[in-house]
Order: sequence, then C-alpha cells, then structure tokens
Amino acid sequence: MADALIYDLDFEELVQALNELGQPLFRARQIWSGLYEHLYDDFSQFSNIPSNLRTALAQRYTLSPLSPRASLHSKDRLTEKTLFGLHDNLSVETVLMRYEERNSLCISTQVGCPMGCVFCATGQMGYQRGLSTGEILAQVIHYMRHLQTEGKKLTNIVYMGMGEPFLNYDATMASLRRLTDSTGMNFGARRITISTVGIIPKIEKFSRESLQVNLAVSLHSADNELRSQIVPANRIYPLKNLISACRAYTELTHRRISFEYALIKDLNDTQPAAAQLAGLLKGMLCHVNLIALNPSKAYPLQGSSKEKVQAFADALAERGIPVTVRLRRGIEIQAGCGQLASSQNPL
Ligand code: SF4
Repeated sequence: MADALIYDLDFEELVQALNELGQPLFRARQIWSGLYEHLYDDFSQFSNIPSNLRTALAQRYTLSPLSPRASLHSKDRLTEKTLFGLHDNLSVETVLMRYEERNSLCISTQVGCPMGCVFCATGQMGYQRGLSTGEILAQVIHYMRHLQTEGKKLTNIVYMGMGEPFLNYDATMASLRRLTDSTGMNFGARRITISTVGIIPKIEKFSRESLQVNLAVSLHSADNELRSQIVPANRIYPLKNLISACRAYTELTHRRISFEYALIKDLNDTQPAAAQLAGLLKGMLCHVNLIALNPSKAYPLQGSSKEKVQAFADALAERGIPVTVRLRRGIEIQAGCGQLASSQNPL
C-alpha cells in the first residue's frame, strides 16, 4: 500500500506532483476539491478524473493514514475518543465532544509531548515525534466524514490534544491554513482554537500570522513558583514574560486571549490564588476558562470540588475578569489528553 500522505502536499506541491505525471493544472484543482470539499476517502470516488490517473495516485498516495485502534464512548455517548495508529506504529488520540448546538473536535499535534506538565498523561509519556501537516488534518477529515454519515457537521476544532502545537509550529500553521482555505475545507478560523503552555517566541510569531484563529494559554497558576511546579515550561518562559507576551498579542491583534486554568484540589484553587490571578490579568482583553482537573491514574492530584470551582469563578468575576466554568467531559473514558495513548504507545 502507498505510504505517502496526499494531505501532506500543499496546493503548489500537488500541482508539481501532477506535473510530474504529465497532468495539467485543472486536474490539481479537481483533486483538491475532491480531497477537501468532498472529503473522498478512496481514489475511485474521483469520478471526474481519468481512471489511469486515479490508479497512479492510488499507487503513490494514501487517503487514510490513520487506523482506529480503539474507540471509547462516554456513558451519555456525547464524548468519543479514538486512538489512531500511525504508519510507524505510534499512536495519537482525538476526542469528539458533542453539544446541543455544536460538535467540537480536540486534535493532537505531537506523539507524546516534551513539556512534562505534571497533571497530564501525555506529559508523563515523554516525546516521540511531531505529526506532519497531513496527520494533523487527517484527524479532522476522519471526524468530518464520520459526522457526515449522521447528517451532522463539525463546528469547532481545538488544538488541545496530545502535544504542544507551538513546538510543531510549521506543521500546525500549515494545517490551519489548509483548514481555513476558501478553495478547500473553508472552515471558519474563528471556530478554531490553538492552545499553548506559553512558548513565548511562538506566541510572538503567531500574532503576526494574520490568522483569525483563537489563542488559548494554559496558565494554571498566577504564582511563578507554583506554575513552574505544575508547568515546567514556566522555568524557561516565566510568568511575567509570558503575561507581557500575551498583552502584546492582544494589543497587536485586537483579539481576546483565553486562559485555561485547571483547578487542582488544595493547590491552585484558593481565594488568594483567585485574587492573584485577577491582579495578573487586570485590564487585559481576555477570558478565563476554569475546569476541575480531570482525574488520571498517571498523577495523584485531584480536581477541585464544584463548590470550590464556583467560588474561584465568583472571585474572578467580582474583580471584573470574564470567566466561564467548563464542564468536565468524558472522565470515564479518560478524555484528558494522552490518557488512552499512554497505555498503548510502545514507549
Ligand atoms: S498539557 Fe499539553 S503541553 Fe502539557 S504535557 Fe500535556 S500535552 Fe504537553
């Protein structure tokens, strides 16, 4: 079977590949439309191109680089997690979350992650490699096809699965451009969120990309020392510098930044911690998303109680910080990032 992933080619590279097969430009447009508008999963479906070209493409390229190895559904069937096998026998996870009016997909950008956040199963796995542009996109395409069979659509994409997207910057940016390409998938940039632990040089670079994609920063503490314990990347990119970079991002882009804050019992969920966070973010165009930490076998920390989460949210709101309490999803299927893969990857 062909190994090369056709989704790894951008349009110019596809034109070039077809040129080498003696094909004119309009064939590239037809194939592009089949790949990204119609989401064909077999070259036989490209009925508007000659059969000898379909055969030549099928010999060279695959349209299905991901083999589902395991799929878990939450009891209410609203959250679904798939572990996908890759060509080199590694695996990544993708999580679909269904809500009343939207279907949101959480995708991965790396196999494992080098950042080592203490509460994260992926962080405890170590790092294997970055995903290619095509492998990132293939997760989305898989679930778009899946939802299509139910007459539904994917409405939101979050880059919050396995890995730190800004450490796989080029492939991540290329995937964003492909998703939002008006001649292909045409997915609304404002319905995409990219999440980082705070890789400052890449936040600065991202602010100059002219993409309307949302940025979320995983904060988890407003105290520099505590944050270094929870998110070791803070030792390289300390809180003060990170917040300056975030302020600069909002000033340059005029876009609101989201801060993710996982509430951990008796660690970062106190009233003084809330006051400190409010002080840190004062005056910034931002929004805080609070969530009680998802439990995992990989770490002993526990999520805060509902009452503690609400009290933390109230303390932020009273100080003028926009805040939302997010519901935990899929606890029983270990929907926190990396929790399924960490038990399956040959590390
Ligand atoms: S939380 Fe994100 S950045 Fe941190 S270790 Fe897990 S995957 Fe990596």
